[in-house]
Amino acid sequence: MCEEHSKLFHAYQEAVALFSTTLNARQATLVTAPRDEYPRMTEYVEQARLASEDARAELNRHITAHGCRPHFGAATNSASS
Ligand SMILES: [Zn+2]
Repeated sequence: MCEEHSKLFHAYQEAVALFSTTLNARQATLVTAPRDEYPRMTEYVEQARLASEDARAELNRHITAHGCRPHFGAATNSASS
């Protein structure tokens, strides 16, 4: 895995994590927030979903262009500096 791949992979993971966060936040508005918060949260969720899809597309584009191997399932959990 090259440096660029690593960077894109991390960006993708972060985008997915953000998407997951917005989903949880939207779920929380069901019990804690006024009803009209929900559509607004749905918009955030949608934006985060699109961002994660973009990040994945960019990662795939790099893999195709550069020929380096996908790295799914092999991510380390250590906080990188
Ligand atoms: Zn590469």
